[in-house]
Amino acid sequence: MSDYQLTAVGHIESPYKQKFAIPRQPRLVPQAKAKLVFCADFNREEFVRGLDEFSHIWLLFRFHETADKGYSAMVRPPRLGGNDRKGVFATRATFRPNAIGMSAVKLEGIEYRNGQLSLLLSGIDLLDGTPILDIKPYLPYSDAMHDASAGFADVRPQTQMSVEFSETAEQFITAQNQYPELKDFIVNVLKQDPRPAYKKQKDGEQSYGMTLYNFNIRWQVNGEHNYVSHIEKL
Ligand code: SAH
Repeated sequence: MSDYQLTAVGHIESPYKQKFAIPRQPRLVPQAKAKLVFCADFNREEFVRGLDEFSHIWLLFRFHETADKGYSAMVRPPRLGGNDRKGVFATRATFRPNAIGMSAVKLEGIEYRNGQLSLLLSGIDLLDGTPILDIKPYLPYSDAMHDASAGFADVRPQTQMSVEFSETAEQFITAQNQYPELKDFIVNVLKQDPRPAYKKQKDGEQSYGMTLYNFNIRWQVNGEHNYVSHIEKL
């Protein structure tokens, strides 16, 4: 066995401040905007010359939040309701050898401002602070396989979840001029039904909280219905 040392080329500035409620794959919530900020050694436009010709890129990253928890041979994919187990290499689970993640995301732009090179991204599924190990252009002619099948994860996860806001939550959102997509962002995050599988099987109202940007959002779930009761600035 060989050991290798990896160096991050940058890190992610993301609205997702904790793991809970992050969608399980990229592009499920297009309003999730982020910045990839390059480290000093890679903070030069030469490194990204030509990248603006691509609409999407692959990010290889470290699951840094959970990396020290190690891995297991078998995991319980949320897609299977948390009941069935699959081999870790048959899943996209975070608890894996080397804790490397990969996401194909939309490249919205390249920014070079005040001496700092950044990529502007959307549709991300990454936690704030995630270290980026590598960046590659997405190549549709090779990466998109139209005859591919994907067993237990064959179709995009579907839910019938509805999302409603209290009057105070609605007013709070309207006042946040710098985040014009905040409402759609919250709606689409909640429509993914971020609850752990064992909670979904429970009856009655359940209460949850999450942080997006610097907003603390509280909501209740009853059946297929989400009710956002309260939002406040942290
Ligand atoms: N698209 C990736 C991620 C799949 S796992 C891949 O296929 O490799 C998706 C989960 O990763 C999300 O629900 C989120 O909770 C978790 N996640 C995102 N960034 C993380 C990080 N830096 N450390 C640990 N977990 C992270």
